[in-house]
Amino acid sequence: MKAKDIAELMDEPACSHNKKEKSGCAKPKPGATAGGCAFDGAQIALLPIADVAHIVHGPIACAGSSWDNRGTRSSGATLYRIGMTTDLTEQDVIMGRGEKRLFHSIKQAIDDYQPPAVFVYNTCVPALTGDDVDAVCKAAQERWGVPVVPVDCAGFYGTKNLGNRIAGEAMVRHVIGTREPQPVDAALRPAGMRIHDVNLIGEYNIAGEFWYVLPLLDELGIRVLCTLSGDARFHEVQTMHRAEVNMMVCSKAMLNVARKLEEGYGTPWFEGSFYGITDTSQALRDFARLIDDADLTARTEALIEREEQRIRTQLEPWRQRLQGKRVLLYTGGVKSWSVISALQDLGMNVVATGTNKSTEEDKARIRELMGDDVKMQEDGSPRGLLNTVAEYQADILIAGGRNMYTALKARVPFLDINQEREFAYAGYGGMLELVRQLALTMESPVWEQVRRPAPWQTARSAQGELLTAKTA
Ligand code: SF4
Repeated sequence: MKAKDIAELMDEPACSHNKKEKSGCAKPKPGATAGGCAFDGAQIALLPIADVAHIVHGPIACAGSSWDNRGTRSSGATLYRIGMTTDLTEQDVIMGRGEKRLFHSIKQAIDDYQPPAVFVYNTCVPALTGDDVDAVCKAAQERWGVPVVPVDCAGFYGTKNLGNRIAGEAMVRHVIGTREPQPVDAALRPAGMRIHDVNLIGEYNIAGEFWYVLPLLDELGIRVLCTLSGDARFHEVQTMHRAEVNMMVCSKAMLNVARKLEEGYGTPWFEGSFYGITDTSQALRDFARLIDDADLTARTEALIEREEQRIRTQLEPWRQRLQGKRVLLYTGGVKSWSVISALQDLGMNVVATGTNKSTEEDKARIRELMGDDVKMQEDGSPRGLLNTVAEYQADILIAGGRNMYTALKARVPFLDINQEREFAYAGYGGMLELVRQLALTMESPVWEQVRRPAPWQTARSAQGELLTAKTA
């Protein structure tokens, strides 16, 4: 990828800080890729496209760094769960065999699995040795008649966020707009109801959570052409240009896709979240507002009223148990603010939130929700997190899996909120799961037991007291 293309992705004009100051995204500082390199970002953004063969062109360790590290679910195809790599060795580099290996790997993937498309992710080594990945993909596509999409995302280009944008850019350049969607079967359409097509960009269907939301959209007659990329299929990504509205679900990660669809096809977009009652209702309202269909608006309001009432009744017994509990939330990007809203819906008190991977817009959103006094936790080291837990007397740490042992060793209740999690928290239904997991975690009898001094400590102190008494 040329330096000019990278600079363009870093200066995304739809980011509000660029509209105001033309400052561009902050340049990565040393250590910024500790949370994932550009390749990692690109692969996690596209890997959930379930029927595609995803080939990592590089040494095997790159594939290991990001394969299957999101708990994203598919309702059918499972090809995305097969890790494929060209497994470059130093011999391949010395002998200049990288391109050849890639060509044969594409052939093998097509022969073995007959995928509708192959995605090829470029990594640092072949980018440095100068493999012409675009040319190999083009040649393979011509030879076997299957779309082969190059995703030029070498890790040293920048951070994970940049990788997300590179992934989005690859979809805009090579995939979106190459097929028309199927018309809706008239027999399946309720009488008099107009069907509206939409896309969700940045929705990854972690633990299958989008399946809490999809039935609501179905009921409203909103057809999801594609979720980029949770539970997506290649042919769905191809039709994204026909949506009436796009929703950006994960902050600014693939903002370039929304902007380019707006510029190229006039599709309006909005940013929203499905975490929490308030945000879920707002997202449904935003769809109706942008689609601008009076009948849809009326049906949306009726659905929101029914669903909110239902979920609030079901949440009531849990709310009493969670009310006023203090939370340290350490996560990145969109979750740094969208989960706050879900926790506030439950009457919980978020005392600090992690902003290490948040954009300026995410931070502005946090301030909007929690005021200027909120502690923005940049320091994600175990010591930094535990100091904040102690200082703010947090009852629970909600963070990504890598912080689990930090919390557990310090005997602090912990809930995994990141992509590896096992439970689905989106939509109205997801709130019930969230409260259940929060209550189970905080009320577990294990905390009382592990915080008690160990029996030998009690015995030793009793002995110490005895000795002191004798000496006196
Ligand atoms: S792409 Fe580069 S930075 Fe990323 S895992 Fe591979 S070698 Fe490391």
